[in-house]
Amino acid sequence: MSDDTPLPGIVITGASGRMGQMLVKLVASSDKARLVGAVERAGHPWVGQDIGTAMGGAELGVKVTDDALEAFANAQAVIDFTSPSASVEFAALAAQARAVHVIGTTGLEAEHLEKFGAAARHAVIIRAGNMSLGVNLLTQLTRRVAAALDADWDIEIVEAHHRMKVDAPSGTALMLGEAAAEGRGVDLAGHRDSGRDGMTGARKRGDIGFSAIRGGDIVGEHDVIFAAEGERVILRHIATDRAIFARGAIRAALWGQDKKPGEYDMIDVLGL
Ligand code: NAP
Repeated sequence: MSDDTPLPGIVITGASGRMGQMLVKLVASSDKARLVGAVERAGHPWVGQDIGTAMGGAELGVKVTDDALEAFANAQAVIDFTSPSASVEFAALAAQARAVHVIGTTGLEAEHLEKFGAAARHAVIIRAGNMSLGVNLLTQLTRRVAAALDADWDIEIVEAHHRMKVDAPSGTALMLGEAAAEGRGVDLAGHRDSGRDGMTGARKRGDIGFSAIRGGDIVGEHDVIFAAEGERVILRHIATDRAIFARGAIRAALWGQDKKPGEYDMIDVLGL
């Protein structure tokens, strides 16, 4: 990039959210990108206000808007940590604006993924249930360990998050479950065991179990447990600062600038 090429402009959706505010701060202070928009839903009290002052800090020269398409039209990338239905809507608009769409939203179902697939025919979509370097490395390790061990080793994924989280298992836990299933050469849907309660019967050989803890302000913790007779292997990641997800998302937005339309994930971005 020559010195007079403008830095890629990034819009943050759900700008008042936990991740949204973190992203606004990091993009605004980045020397590799510019903050060019902040989107919230119609009727949100921050709409029309400067995003910096709405967050209780210095003015950033970007007004919060509820007109996503107009905001996306002036941007090279959209970073989106909102809700599944909002992300589907934003995917169509980002594709229309030919902006790279980085999706961190979790709790996605097949119907949402299908719509992302349609949008990715026209634009770059980068999606990951976890944008941190550490978890993506953990995903690769999980795949390798699962490939090395047979079904005598029960696989259990235990995750912990703050009390406000609305979906379970976490997107990261599901990502780790997919990696374990792939390593083992099975389909996760046919081996997933989540939400045990009551007389569940003995554990089924080959199942991949999920458990969720919710409490306080836990940012995100994931254990992948391989348990056999007489021994256990535990792979663990602990996030202590949401900035790791925001930094990963910004890196993805920049990485996506010269890529062909299609769907990508953080393994692609990080080259793991
Ligand atoms: P949050 O604090 O609830 O923030 C979500 C924000 O999105 C809120 O400001 C919400 O506004 C806004 N929003 C929802 N629908 C909207 C719409 N139609 N238009 C504009 N804005 C809309 O949640 P969070 O903790 O930041 O997490 C957001 C998502 O990211 C969750 O799915 C979470 O699991 C995921 N996440 C992913 C990663 C990762 O690395 N991939 C890391 C952390 C979190 P209202 O308050 O008005 O509803």
